[in-house]
Amino acid sequence: MNTTKVQAYAAQSPTSGLTPFGISRREASPQDVEIEILYCGICHSDLHSVRNEWSEFMPTNYPIVPGHEIVGRITKVGSGVTKYKPGDLAAVGCMVDADGTCPQCKAGLEQFCANMILTFNSPDKHLGGLTYGGYSGSIVVDERFVLRVPSNLNLAGAAPLLCAGITTYSPIHHWGVTKGKKVGVVGLGGLGHMAVKFAHALGAHVVVFTTSPGKKEDALRLGANEVVVSRDANEMKKHTGSFDFILDAVSADHDINAYINLLGVDGNLTLVGAPAEPLSVPAFSLIARRRSFSGSAIGGIAETQEMLDFCGKNNITADVEVIPIQKVNEAYERLLKSDVKYRFSIDMASLKSE
Ligand code: NAP
Ligand code: ZN
Repeated sequence: MNTTKVQAYAAQSPTSGLTPFGISRREASPQDVEIEILYCGICHSDLHSVRNEWSEFMPTNYPIVPGHEIVGRITKVGSGVTKYKPGDLAAVGCMVDADGTCPQCKAGLEQFCANMILTFNSPDKHLGGLTYGGYSGSIVVDERFVLRVPSNLNLAGAAPLLCAGITTYSPIHHWGVTKGKKVGVVGLGGLGHMAVKFAHALGAHVVVFTTSPGKKEDALRLGANEVVVSRDANEMKKHTGSFDFILDAVSADHDINAYINLLGVDGNLTLVGAPAEPLSVPAFSLIARRRSFSGSAIGGIAETQEMLDFCGKNNITADVEVIPIQKVNEAYERLLKSDVKYRFSIDMASLKSE
């Protein structure tokens, strides 16, 4: 198969950091779309993966080229591609393939397909080796996994919709967040700030729980009705038993039970944050009010397009700090300090100076 050499950034080990690295991309086959990457968001999952923090569940293979919040411009399409043409804006999220035939795929839940291929660190069935993500100059993807970007959206701010956006939009819809519901968002990072925007746009009463008192003003500006600094036990107590739904988007170990106790009867807490350590939940916290505790992973392709179209209509993008790729290791250090407002978006033009 013909390939093209493309510049990228990769980590060679859990401790190496990210450095320039050349990769090969396949030539577009009939159903493929080739995209020049313009912006790629930095998800905390990139960091977990680069540092092999999920070694028990999803061990990292090296070298790893992370990045699954990709927007760009189409440079080439295969002869069988019907939905896109060169020059179109396009986006790619966390998945680049799935079998298309299993019950999950048929239900539009490709993220739960046993044969789903992640955008990075999955087996690459075309070239062998591993899939390489969006910290790179271009990507070639089957058109079934390519998304359309509404033309009114700022591209740097649209990139994070492909993971932070869909990962929060999907459970917010699944659990019926609407006007009149009391909704909590735990952790005001990339995912959390998107959850606030969506829940607010749907008319819910939104309460942000943060460990960072300095984020209070921002939380209100983003659409929160109330902000609770979660280290303040008295403030937490005032909300006991009162929530319909809480979305937990925290990247590190924390006391999940403190939030389950804030749910009302039949309330649900959904975990999207993926700390490596197991969480402890006492049975009586759930039994007491028929509460439920669940998880959620990104969203299917059709739902991702629905989310992007919703963002286009409501002019929703992520609040981003645009950085050159050369600042990626610094950005990771800042993520670990919860110092991001509220997503880093890499300007891929910076890769050309490598
Ligand atoms: P992020 O931007 O780094 O935000 C995480 C936020 O969690 C921080 O800003 C901070 O908010 C809070 N936090 C961090 N350390 C904490 C601690 N020790 N105790 C309490 N709160 C803490 O990360 P992200 O990109 O939004 O990702 C969040 C998590 O979701 C990650 O684990 C990521 O891997 C996971 N994820 C899951 C999916 C999925 O499909 N389920 C998809 C994408 C990402 P405050 O400053 O407000 O406290
Ligand atoms: Zn992500």
